[in-house]
Amino acid sequence: MKYDYLIVGAGLFGAVFAHEMTKDGKNCLIIDKRDHIAGNIYTKKWADINVHWYGAHIFHTGNKAIWDYINQFAEFNNFINSPMAVYKDELYNLPFNMNTFSKMWNIRTPKEAKDIIEGQIKDLNITEPKNLEEQALSLAGRDVYEKLVKGYTEKQWGRDCRELPSFIIKRLPLRFTYDNNYFNDRFQGIPIGGYTEIVKKMIGDTPVILGKTYKEFMAENEAKSDRDEFGKILYTGMIDEYFDFCLGELEYRTVKFEHELMEEVDNYQGNAVVNYTEREIPYTRIIEHKHFEFGTQPDTVVSKEYPVEWKSGDEPYYPVNNERNNELYRKYEEMAAGEENVLFGGRLGQYKYYDMDKVIEKALEMVADERG
Ligand SMILES: Cc1cc2nc3c(=O)[nH]c(=O)nc-3n(C[C@H](O)[C@H](O)[C@H](O)COP(=O)(O)OP(=O)(O)OC[C@H]3O[C@@H](n4cnc5c(N)ncnc54)[C@H](O)[C@@H]3O)c2cc1C
Repeated sequence: MKYDYLIVGAGLFGAVFAHEMTKDGKNCLIIDKRDHIAGNIYTKKWADINVHWYGAHIFHTGNKAIWDYINQFAEFNNFINSPMAVYKDELYNLPFNMNTFSKMWNIRTPKEAKDIIEGQIKDLNITEPKNLEEQALSLAGRDVYEKLVKGYTEKQWGRDCRELPSFIIKRLPLRFTYDNNYFNDRFQGIPIGGYTEIVKKMIGDTPVILGKTYKEFMAENEAKSDRDEFGKILYTGMIDEYFDFCLGELEYRTVKFEHELMEEVDNYQGNAVVNYTEREIPYTRIIEHKHFEFGTQPDTVVSKEYPVEWKSGDEPYYPVNNERNNELYRKYEEMAAGEENVLFGGRLGQYKYYDMDKVIEKALEMVADERG
């Protein structure tokens, strides 16, 4: 056997797995259909700025072991995600906190904010929310909902909040302190030099074939009767695609990224992430990448994110874990369990939205299983 593992997908999951198995002396081969490594955490240098090519990626975790693990591969800066929100001509801090409330109602104390929110919730008198609008109103009151939740959510899902199920929003965290740190996790930052460098280090000397889908690769290798060259396969692509969609297609949400280099603009919006919460503006946010690394370059690169209805063949960014899709996934998962010597991992292989820390955790669990 030439390779112990064929790893399909050079994203974070595949890279962690390759790194650990190679450490054990196993031979791995990685393939990816894209023309670059790192999957969705890919960062590309443009005008000396690390551009998060598939959307803003902020590493955050509450798990010290995972923080220590990722710190083997990069030095992290002390970036704290503190997004802003624009609604019409008003500017608010996120997450919803005392800075937001103070701006919204010209108040100062947590008690004043609580009284306003509780008063609005009481007036609405929603006992059993029938849709997302009622759910959000009953959690945060009318002002926060109308200015900061409604339009943004409708753009994201391409539908009116009254047509969306209430379970999409389980909680709307309201913070009654003047704290703009979006995440509650103890560890947070951006890798100095970008994420691609991390994946490059993880992969090390493991051979990588880019621009090749699993099906293309197998067709070529089966023709040469080479299938036996691989002990096991780790598949981090879409699980339904692996099975040729034989039970039907799982659904996703997708995003279109519009990247723009602005020459001789050293600071376009003064913050890494600015959300646009009114429905009339077609994008949900603008990212200004240099601010992730406190950049002082003379130019800037910004990316607009447009949510787009997913159709077959589009880039699958977010799984839609509703009842129909979860049930379908369970059936594919059963089929996967019957596939000899094939492992399914990562956000597409396991049809679950994972942040980066969870992906590392899951990949290390798989490694532990392989080690036995
Ligand atoms: C817009 C957006 C923003 C995010 N922001 C954050 C954040 O701020 N913080 C955070 O922690 N996480 C964030 N995430 C999550 C993060 O991107 C994921 O946790 C991580 O990228 C998942 O790694 P993965 O290896 O499972 O999947 P991927 O990165 O998708 O890697 C899978 C790889 O497999 C390849 N592939 C798929 N099918 C095939 C095939 N048939 N043949 C060959 N190759 C194939 C793909 O090209 C891809 O390179 C965000 C995700 C998105 C979409």
